[in-house]
Amino acid sequence: MVKPSVFIAIALYTSALAASQVSSLIEKKAQGQWQVTYSTASPVQRMVFKRNPDGSRAKHWVAQSELYKISYQDGVEAVVRLDGQPFREVSFDLPAVYTPLPKEYAAFSPFSDGGMLLHSGRFFACAEHCQPELNSWTLTLKAPVGENIIVGGKLYQNEVTWQERDSGSKLYLGKASPLAGPDFISLIDSELPLILQQQINSQLPQLMAYFTSQMGALNFRPALFASFSTTADGSYGHQGGTLPGQIFMHWYGDKAIEKLQPDAVFWFFAHEVAHLYQREASAIEPSQDAWVHEGAAEYLSGLATTEVQQNKQMLQQKLTDAGQHCVAGLENQRHYTKAAAANTQLHYSCGLLLNHAIDQQLRQVDPEMTFFRLWSLFNAQVQAGQTAQAATYLTVLKAYVSAEFWQQLHLFSSQEDFDALTLMQQLRVAYQLSLVKPSIQEGQL
Ligand SMILES: [Zn+2]
Repeated sequence: MVKPSVFIAIALYTSALAASQVSSLIEKKAQGQWQVTYSTASPVQRMVFKRNPDGSRAKHWVAQSELYKISYQDGVEAVVRLDGQPFREVSFDLPAVYTPLPKEYAAFSPFSDGGMLLHSGRFFACAEHCQPELNSWTLTLKAPVGENIIVGGKLYQNEVTWQERDSGSKLYLGKASPLAGPDFISLIDSELPLILQQQINSQLPQLMAYFTSQMGALNFRPALFASFSTTADGSYGHQGGTLPGQIFMHWYGDKAIEKLQPDAVFWFFAHEVAHLYQREASAIEPSQDAWVHEGAAEYLSGLATTEVQQNKQMLQQKLTDAGQHCVAGLENQRHYTKAAAANTQLHYSCGLLLNHAIDQQLRQVDPEMTFFRLWSLFNAQVQAGQTAQAATYLTVLKAYVSAEFWQQLHLFSSQEDFDALTLMQQLRVAYQLSLVKPSIQEGQL
C-alpha cells in the first residue's frame, strides 16, 4: 500500500523528473550474456545509482566503452565519462552470478537450469542525483527466444516494459514455467535437494494456513521463488526475503545444502512467511527500527514452530541464544542505534527478546489481546497512512502493556543515549527466571 503523501509528492515532481529520468534496459543475449543499457531524454554529466550497499558495481560491471567508468565515492556509485563530456546512453556487461550484498538483495540469483531471478532495485538509477522524492523507475527486460519473463506475477515473452517503485521486486527470466498452486505461484529449482523441495511443498502451505488462521488471509497469492546455484570459490549460505507479494529463497554453494537441519529450515520459512503476514507494516523505514519487524518475524517463527511443529524447545533455545548475543553485542556499545548499525544481527536477537517481552506483557495485561492482533492493529495504522516505524508500533502497543514497560520501550526507541544494555540484561534475566518459575515470573519485565 502506498501512502497518500507519496502520491502527492510524485504529482508535484512529475514535470521536474520527466527530463531527468533514466530508463534501464536489462537484456539477456541469445548466447547467455547479460547487459544493461541506461538512457536519458537529455544529456547528463553523471548517472547515479539509487541503492548503494557497497562499491561492487564499480568492481564487477564492465562498461562496453572505455570512455565510461563507475566511481564509488561517499557511499554512492555513479557513472561518469572519463573526458567529462555529457552523455545520454551507457551500457554495461554484467556478471550474472550470485553476489551477496550487505543488507541488500542480490542482483542475480541463478537457477540450476540457467534461469535467473533478478532484483530490479539493483538497476534503479537517476540523472545527476537521486532526489529522495524520486520513486518511479522505468525498466525493460528483454529475453532470448523461448524464455519466459515473470514480472509482477504475470508471464511475458520477448520483452516487457514496466514501472517500479520502493525497494523494487524480483523478476524471473528463464525457460521454466511457474506452477500455480492454491497458496503460491511458485518456481522451485529442480536441483534443490529433494528433502528441501518436500519441505517447501509441505511446510509453506502449513505456515500459510497457520498465519491465515491468526492474522487473516492475504488478499493476493504470493509468488514463491526457490533457487540454488553452485559457487566456484567454495562460498556457501542462503538468503531469503520478501518483497510485496513475493517470497524468495536462494541457497548457494554445495555446503549450504549438504547438512540441512529440518528445524532450522522450518524456522527460516516461518520467518519469511511471517513477513508476508506483517503486510505493509513490515516495510519499516528507519534502519534503527528494524528490531520491530525482524524481531517480530523471529518471534512469530517461534510461535509457528511451537504450534505447527509442536516444538517448544526451539523458541526457548533461540531466546536463550538471543539473550546471550544481544547482551554481548551491547557490552562495548550500550547505545542501541550505534551498536546495531555496526552489527545488524542485533535487530534479530535483541528484537526477539523485545518482542517476546511484549507478548508476555500483552498476555498479562489483557488476556483478550494477542501478538497477532497487535500486528493486525499496527498494520491497520500503517494502511491508514501512519509511517511503518517503531514509534507507530509503540503507540498501538501503549494500551495493552504496563506504563512502566511502555516507558522503557519508548526511551529505548527514541533516545540515542539510552542504556540499552541494562534493559536487555533485565529482559534476559526475566526470561531465564520464567523458565525456572513460569507461574511467578512470566510476564514481568
Ligand atoms: Zn526478515
